[in-house]
Amino acid sequence: MRALVLVLLASLGLLLDARPAAAWCQSTNVVLPGGGCLQRCVTEADIAEGDTLLYLAWTRPCMEWVWVDSGRDLRREESIAVFERSFRTWTSVTCDGGRPIGFDVRFRDAPGLCSRTEYVIGEGNANQMGFVSGWTDRGHDPRAFALTTTWFSTRTGEIFDADMEINEQHWDWAICPEEGCTDGRIDLENTVTHELGHFFGLAHTPDDRDATMWACADEGETHKRTLEEDDIEGICTIYGPGSLRTECDHTPRGGFDARCRDDRGGCGCVTPGAGEASGAPALGLLVVGGLLWRRRAR
Ligand SMILES: [Zn+2]
Repeated sequence: MRALVLVLLASLGLLLDARPAAAWCQSTNVVLPGGGCLQRCVTEADIAEGDTLLYLAWTRPCMEWVWVDSGRDLRREESIAVFERSFRTWTSVTCDGGRPIGFDVRFRDAPGLCSRTEYVIGEGNANQMGFVSGWTDRGHDPRAFALTTTWFSTRTGEIFDADMEINEQHWDWAICPEEGCTDGRIDLENTVTHELGHFFGLAHTPDDRDATMWACADEGETHKRTLEEDDIEGICTIYGPGSLRTECDHTPRGGFDARCRDDRGGCGCVTPGAGEASGAPALGLLVVGGLLWRRRAR
């Protein structure tokens, strides 16, 4: 009898080990309630009747981003260099034994003028990144290190724009040594590399604590600077061969404009669908947030 139990346990162990190692999730038009470290992928079962589950992804290969000149702890050049490294970490991934995904992301050396996350239909836009001092004023959770907001077509799931807010109200930022910071400061590259996963359309991975897209981080950790198998399988699957358009234009959709909508002096009368090619369906937009949480101390 005991032998039988042992055999059963052993097979169970084998079954568990045989689960696919990769468990990444793609961003969708639905955000599950509740944050924290343990998250799961959104499925059709999470969709209200009559709604459609959309998976979010870029279709343009070329993009640009601007820096909202902000930040108490790091110089502008230091922050920009961190973003350049983190973008390269994602865009240099090769899939299927050597296929580059084809992303070309560049820094636009023009001031980001809008620290709020915005996408303006029918007008110019910019992918804006920066530190935020009034974090709780915006209704964000103080435990979060950063938040990436992705704007997408509610018809197709195509990502149009993504903005990143970094919490400097509750956290001190640093470029930590390789082995991490031990003084409570947060490594910017660790956080930005995770957030850029959201930029590219990845959601939190449910059960790989070592992955860059794991929802939680310890203070001062640096291991999310580099991607793990789960992250790479995610981005390579989302952006399989032929998933990106071939023409390269870095200019944001609607042209480049780094000002907040309210600072543009226009009539504010642009309505969804205006400015789209005639016959194009009206576009609605939703916001999806990607947070990097602080791991709760046990
Ligand atoms: Zn996140």
